[in-house]
Amino acid sequence: MELYSTNKKECRVSIKEAIFHSLPADKGLYMPVEIPQLKGYFIDNLEKYSFQEIAFEVSNELIGNDIPAWDLKKIVVDAINFDAPLVALDQKTAVLELFHGPSFAFKDFGARFMSRIMAYFSNKDDRLLDVLVATSGDTGGAVALGFLGVPGTRVTILYPKGKVSTIQELQLTTNGKNIRALEIDGTFDDCQKLVKEAFNDITLNQKLRLTSANSINIARLIPQTFYYFQAVAQAKRDGAKEVVFSVPSGNFGNIGAGLLANKMGLPVLRFLAATNINDTVPRFLNSGVYEPRPSVQTLSNAMDVGNPSNWIRIMNLFNNKTEYVKQKVSAYRYTDAETIEAIKTLYEQYNYIACPHTAIAWRATHEYLRTNSGKYQTIFLSTAHPCKFPEVFPANIRSKIQVPAQVIELHKIKKVATKLTNNFQQLKEYLTET
Ligand SMILES: *Cc1c(COP(=O)(O)O)cnc(C)c1O
Repeated sequence: MELYSTNKKECRVSIKEAIFHSLPADKGLYMPVEIPQLKGYFIDNLEKYSFQEIAFEVSNELIGNDIPAWDLKKIVVDAINFDAPLVALDQKTAVLELFHGPSFAFKDFGARFMSRIMAYFSNKDDRLLDVLVATSGDTGGAVALGFLGVPGTRVTILYPKGKVSTIQELQLTTNGKNIRALEIDGTFDDCQKLVKEAFNDITLNQKLRLTSANSINIARLIPQTFYYFQAVAQAKRDGAKEVVFSVPSGNFGNIGAGLLANKMGLPVLRFLAATNINDTVPRFLNSGVYEPRPSVQTLSNAMDVGNPSNWIRIMNLFNNKTEYVKQKVSAYRYTDAETIEAIKTLYEQYNYIACPHTAIAWRATHEYLRTNSGKYQTIFLSTAHPCKFPEVFPANIRSKIQVPAQVIELHKIKKVATKLTNNFQQLKEYLTET
């Protein structure tokens, strides 16, 4: 796969370059020069393939020229080792549960695949790969567990003190092995700034082989296409003819992967982009003016993004034409009060407990179904297990959440984190001296 930067089309890089240096110098994002088309037989017979077979077929089409089939198969089988079940709520609505991985959020798909691709492209004589990541919650846990025990890699996670949930903090600080947690006395923005400073520091980069695990890495986008195919395969087995996906969106990586899958030949009637009041994209699709704003804190905090970094990729998939985007994507935005209302309705009508992000996606399908007749199935994506956000739920629902055994076990492990201020010199000393 050859990639170009969205800001400078003539710049061409290999997948390896795009994975280890995910930010092009011109501050664009990498996109495939050509979007491969999946074979008609595969698309027409999706329901006959297992999830891992689907993941192999799709990734082979994208990066089969860079990684021989046998190695790619091993990577896929190792990374995609948990299911993405489609659970029907009623005749026209089903939920695609993406939280059955180790950190109980969909980011496990991206992180597990990326870590193995990075290990694959590292040569035996390469120095230790130092992965730096700033997190406001879910990303850090997925990256930590994705890289845990992956040879030749070491992960350093920066998280803002007191600003991640208890379970999220435990997922960051109880791993040991090749994972280190830094508790930063500051905000998420401070953490991100520190990571950026580290990448720009010449002496640090001479000493260490630094790389980033942020959400714009193309190696996180690729595996997120797999479960859209898998969802359609399951829907076909259930007799559905056409599907509409609803995706709870923050940085728009998840829905971006869905749109890429669609461009590769996966039939999808429409995508619903569901946001909280950080509604830069819904406003844009209404007015045609892209006007990012500072992010506002909400109950669905993994979607508190004022300037979604993957939006440029989506515009690119549609030749930068807003009217083309609108032919495929509708946007919805909901307040915290509407989110809680959706959580309650899902529980009362379907006995289903959804995390706040997932509840927002369901609400969009509900609104879409009310205004669009036709024979189609709506599928909303569940991006995290509700146990990760216990403080959001009314007490009667919270008490019904089934907390997985691994999460209960986490509370028994001692937290290990190094406390640092938001001063870059301290981080630099830490990284060079340990
Ligand atoms: C990251 C995240 C999202 C948003 O996904 P994007 O790809 O950034 O749009 C939604 N829900 C949960 C639980 C997340 O962790």
